Amino acid sequence: MKYDYDLISIGSGSSGRKVALAMHRVGWKTAIVEKDVEGHFAGSCVCSGCVPTKALIEMTRISGNHQKAIAHKEKIVERIRSGTLRSVEERTKVPVIRGLASFVDEHTIQVGDKKYTSDIIVIATGSESIIPPIPGLRESNYATSTEILNLKEIPDKLLIIGGGRIGLEFAQLYKELGSKVTVFEGLPQILPGEDTEMANIIQTHMEKSGITIYTDKFVDEIKEVKSDGKSHFTVILDDGENKGEYHGDYLLVATGRKPATASLNIDKMPVPIKLNRSAIATNAYMQSNHPNIFAVGDVMGGVMMTNVASYHSGVLLKNLKISRTFTSEWKEMILPSFPAIAYTEPEFASLGYTEEQAKAKYGEDSVVTFKFMNKWLAKSMIVDDWDGVLKGIGIKGSNEIIGAHLFGVRTGSIIQMLVLAKENGLGWKELSEMIYGHPVLAEGIEALSSNMLRLTAYTE
Ligand SMILES: Cc1cc2nc3c(=O)[nH]c(=O)nc-3n(C[C@H](O)[C@H](O)[C@H](O)COP(=O)(O)OP(=O)(O)OC[C@H]3O[C@@H](n4cnc5c(N)ncnc54)[C@H](O)[C@@H]3O)c2cc1C
Repeated sequence: MKYDYDLISIGSGSSGRKVALAMHRVGWKTAIVEKDVEGHFAGSCVCSGCVPTKALIEMTRISGNHQKAIAHKEKIVERIRSGTLRSVEERTKVPVIRGLASFVDEHTIQVGDKKYTSDIIVIATGSESIIPPIPGLRESNYATSTEILNLKEIPDKLLIIGGGRIGLEFAQLYKELGSKVTVFEGLPQILPGEDTEMANIIQTHMEKSGITIYTDKFVDEIKEVKSDGKSHFTVILDDGENKGEYHGDYLLVATGRKPATASLNIDKMPVPIKLNRSAIATNAYMQSNHPNIFAVGDVMGGVMMTNVASYHSGVLLKNLKISRTFTSEWKEMILPSFPAIAYTEPEFASLGYTEEQAKAKYGEDSVVTFKFMNKWLAKSMIVDDWDGVLKGIGIKGSNEIIGAHLFGVRTGSIIQMLVLAKENGLGWKELSEMIYGHPVLAEGIEALSSNMLRLTAYTE
């Protein structure tokens, strides 16, 4: 059977684009479908995620000026978006099909009034904000991380539902710009899933800076009143014992993301692609119930980060280069160690197990931990990092880095040396024995690892 293409990626983000371009380079006829080329080519990371948020955060830190930060963000996003589009269309000549793709059958998609057939189809449609079913919320003029990126005025009182990475990054950004910020997190700690002790340290640091944070409190209701063309929001908490009403002029909902599959028309296919909630259900090779349809990136569910999305694509394209259909040479998608970073001020970077996870896996008595306070380090004092804490997690008698949770200036970059060590069989011993520059922030890792070596009592 002859198809229009060997491979079509639905979605131009970090994951889909990478597969289509790599397979084009080895001679396949490939195409990329993107529903919003002018606004979203190159995907969420570039247009509404990593790049714009960090551009706003960094320029606000440098200049303290909202307008400058917005101009900086817009310049960078447009430069990468249009540069990537130009590179794809003009240099590689991989066709970009403009419009919303939906499935007709397992080898055919429809975009507008045209149908395209392909031997292999890669679903890389990313994710979208979850809007929780809080009474009054959906009818209100709330913002998600996408809308707040285009906010031109600094709110007086910013209310944020969700104390994960995205909520906290915006909380600090607008606190810095002068808003009074309140964060509501339903779970017992901010940064759910991260090491509890570290989450509490970060919460204290943020509260000291003037951000109000409520944990373990689900929002019960939202009310919105409009006057003079402006919205006034009330967040209502009522856990039986405590009742509270909190007022603000801007409401951000940052309660997580879910795979974006609703637009794909999956349920109308002769044999629908199987879903796991809204994620594409895949086997170890990222293959759906149709062996020619794969999923990569956020749409698989699980960890939703660019580095992970890109890793999925790397595994898939290596497999496809071996063979279009399954062979025993295909590699399973098993995630290696990867850093998760919150671009708070200072940054929080984590790797491996939390203390809770390590104790559950290895037993309370086997796990050792150490916290290095950055205020003990000359370079940290020099860069004004007084609250930073580097936490290591190990097990007695072992050199292995079980976990590392680093809250401090530029830890998002520093953590990479622990990733390199962990992935290559090195541990606390090797990290403590090499010579570090001086004075540098990485010396915190030297101190952390010497203490971990002492506590694990590892000997070769
Ligand atoms: C505010 C925010 C901050 C973030 N910060 C970070 C960070 O600092 N570090 C990090 O690692 N990750 C971060 N992320 C997550 C990161 O952006 C995503 O994990 C990554 O972009 C996922 O890539 P993807 O290829 O799976 O999907 P995407 O990059 O989202 O690409 C999917 C593309 O598919 C298109 N599309 C969807 N449906 C269709 C359809 N039916 N037809 C045609 N096109 C379609 C979309 O328009 C989109 O362009 C952040 C996310 C957000 C929201």
